[in-house]
Amino acid sequence: MKDIRVRFAPSPTGHLHIGTSRTVLFNWLFARSQNGVFILRIEDTDRSRSTVEYERSIIEDISWLGLNWDEGPEVGGKYGPYYQSQRGELYKKAADELLKKGLAYRCYCTEIELEERREEAIKQGVMPKYDGQCRNLTSEDEKSLISEGRKPTIRFRVPKRKIVVHDLVKGDVEFDSNIIGDFILIRSDGMASFNFAVVVDDAAMKITHVIRGEDHLANTARHILLFEALGYPIPKFAHNSMTLGPDHAKLSKRHGATSIGEYRRQGFLSSALVNCLALLGWSLGDGREIFTLQELVQVFSIDRISKSPAIFDIEKFKWINGQHIRKLSIKELTYLVLPYLEEAGYINAKPTAKKVAWIEKVVEAVQTNLVVLSDIKESSKLFFEDKPEYSKDALEVLKEEQVPKVFEVLKKVLAKANEIDIEKAKIILKEVAGELKSHGIKGKGVYHPIRVALTGALSGPELFYVISVFGKEKCLERIEEAIKLV
Ligand code: GLU
Repeated sequence: MKDIRVRFAPSPTGHLHIGTSRTVLFNWLFARSQNGVFILRIEDTDRSRSTVEYERSIIEDISWLGLNWDEGPEVGGKYGPYYQSQRGELYKKAADELLKKGLAYRCYCTEIELEERREEAIKQGVMPKYDGQCRNLTSEDEKSLISEGRKPTIRFRVPKRKIVVHDLVKGDVEFDSNIIGDFILIRSDGMASFNFAVVVDDAAMKITHVIRGEDHLANTARHILLFEALGYPIPKFAHNSMTLGPDHAKLSKRHGATSIGEYRRQGFLSSALVNCLALLGWSLGDGREIFTLQELVQVFSIDRISKSPAIFDIEKFKWINGQHIRKLSIKELTYLVLPYLEEAGYINAKPTAKKVAWIEKVVEAVQTNLVVLSDIKESSKLFFEDKPEYSKDALEVLKEEQVPKVFEVLKKVLAKANEIDIEKAKIILKEVAGELKSHGIKGKGVYHPIRVALTGALSGPELFYVISVFGKEKCLERIEEAIKLV
């Protein structure tokens, strides 16, 4: 197959969301799995809605997802510029060519006139489309319209025929050009329309595969007509189904769907997000659900993209995130949670190396309890408090009759210990349990009072973690505190 070139072409009119980021991912995966080229092109022809802030945010999010581009903003490339707002000359040239061939024409109808005729068509029960009023103007007609001060648009003369999109996901989809009115190529302000700029750019950038959302499928019929009129090769198309919520309604905030930046702030990992996005309408077919980006590159293929709508389930996403958090090394995870600990006021912005080493122990203790990184605030709270906050049922436990004995033995065993690491903590607990067994105290009778004394709660991280994080002095201190409550 000839060299594969794909592009992601966002309009900077909003933040990157689930659906659009899946489109970036699929393009990137296809390029990387085929040794192709991945291009980022900013489609900012709609000057009133495009902003630099959205553009920055999109670029930042794609970078954070780890989806690097070979050509585009910041990196350049030989088919640039990669901003449509800077490619006006190319569009003008292509439009002139179509005018010369008689495949396009100037239209002098004003917005108001078009709107009136549109409303009239609706009233008559006719599907509204451009009625072709300026299709056959003579140069005399044009002169007089210009003298009225009218500014022309350039419209494509849509030929009457059937158009078949050979879509790699949807199969063959047929359109009748009758339903397409002569559409605008160049607006009266000289800016190219979306449909025109896309085609000129895809051809100029030698795009071989257009992978995008199904919402563009109807546009593709127009694009094919334009590729043909301009004598450009037609790329292959793959239109992904829409992403819906678990209730099969259009995806929205109510489904927990939000911008990629917001997920990042909540503490979702980019690796988990990429994993989750990949599963939206694509699967390997063997039930496997956890993938790294590199693993996805190895196994991705367009023919495994499903035709049916993809379902985004935030609960599943959280589960995937938890799985990815478990796969991180303690050092990596510590680095990622530091900002949340600072935000919670547990540490300052520049913790010492000694403090970080201790935080690593905390992180190890709670790693499996984290679903998103921000959960660290709640899960690790007990390690940063001066005194435990005893819950009501925890205080009840302290009333049990075996408790004084449990604390006595624990104190004795702890007093003998020096440095307590996880292994040592396990040994301590074993020894305590062993001795208490000879007094007929076992199971919950042993572990509940210890847990309550050390953490104030009946559940939490494994006790050996708690003991090793606190160390000997703090454990003894907390037992003394608890004894006062007995
Ligand atoms: N700029 C278009 C959008 O953001 C994408 C166009 C395309 O992929 O062809 O929806």
